[in-house]
Amino acid sequence: MDPEQVWLVRYSEVFLKSEPVRREWERTLIRNIKRVLPDSEPWRERGRIWLSGVVDPEKLKSIFGIVSISLCDVVPLDGLSGGILAFCERRDIAEAATFALRIRHVGKHSFTSRDLAERLGDLIRGEYPHLRVDLDDPEREIFVEVRDGTCYLFDQKIPAVGGIPLGVEGTLVALVSGGIDSPVAAYLMMRRGCRIVPVYVGLEGYLDGTNLARTEATIEALRRYQPDIELMVVGDGYLARARQGLEERGEERYTCLLCKRRMYRIAADVARREGAKGFVTGESMGQVASQTLDNLAVLTDAATIPVYRPLIGFDKEDVVRLARKIGTFDASITPACGCGAVPARPATAATIETVRALEEAVRNVDDVGALADPDNA
Ligand code: ATP
Ligand code: MG
Repeated sequence: MDPEQVWLVRYSEVFLKSEPVRREWERTLIRNIKRVLPDSEPWRERGRIWLSGVVDPEKLKSIFGIVSISLCDVVPLDGLSGGILAFCERRDIAEAATFALRIRHVGKHSFTSRDLAERLGDLIRGEYPHLRVDLDDPEREIFVEVRDGTCYLFDQKIPAVGGIPLGVEGTLVALVSGGIDSPVAAYLMMRRGCRIVPVYVGLEGYLDGTNLARTEATIEALRRYQPDIELMVVGDGYLARARQGLEERGEERYTCLLCKRRMYRIAADVARREGAKGFVTGESMGQVASQTLDNLAVLTDAATIPVYRPLIGFDKEDVVRLARKIGTFDASITPACGCGAVPARPATAATIETVRALEEAVRNVDDVGALADPDNA
């Protein structure tokens, strides 16, 4: 007969927290697990979460806050000898040359971990005489967790996504353009507990359906990390107006700065309505002309709430590697139209005063209320 099995879920950082915060985080993590795996039955016990019922480990591995998972055989303490031999047989321990037992026990018992390791070690070697114990570099490890009268046996710790539970830090708007950077930036903030409201600004006359489709695809790729993620699309004609105003003044080189400042205002406006405490962008130091220290200062000047740029110190190769790892890369490289408003020689050392004056001259920049309202998009 197959033994009863449960999943052991390990989470981190929770132990750094005070008792009430820890409990809140654990509750959030369990709620997030239930949302993704509705037919599982999670319960919490002394710094661990256990799961029975229907569990898809691939889905479990993508839940933020989970560090690793293990599928365990559950055997009663008084059936441990038979249970561990059956476990060794099913896991083909005979194929290894060396092994180690890792014992952990919680609760009051008449034996120490060491006593138990010796007894079980002798038992296993009695059955498999060729096996040697190697505590430093074993081919196989067998973990035994004894919790009062129940033992959990496993031999694998499957790494999971890590981070902290989604939602415990509140909500952030993410400015997403479907490129390689912005989905990765959003992911990094999600991994640190922030629920994301992704916002795409459809620059009328300059971006088209290919850009929107690509952005939608990247958001689908992020759905495994936040099942209720929903892209908000804001149509906006400001760029066309601003571009014309700048051209008339021979100042096209400021186009991208005015455009991004407008996006920052839209992000702040959506954030206010969504109860978000900031927004995240995919900007990285020096990556393109608009991302110099001077220009980032000009952009930040337009942010009325905190702006987070988790990729600021990343090389492009780092971002690409991460995009592949988290599963957004393929969506980000589907063909889409380039923005035709990008000037041949964009300003790289703009000043806040110049840009504010130009904004004043081309006007209507603060009029985002109606535009950012998705019902009017
Ligand atoms: P990505 O950052 O997605 O790879 P990109 O590098 O082409 O795209 P940039 O022009 O460098 O984008 O813009 C920097 C940041 O501004 C983006 O990371 C994103 O956060 C935001 N952004 C750019 N275009 C848009 C858009 N159309 N809608 C919403 N946000 C945008
Ligand atoms: Mg970029």
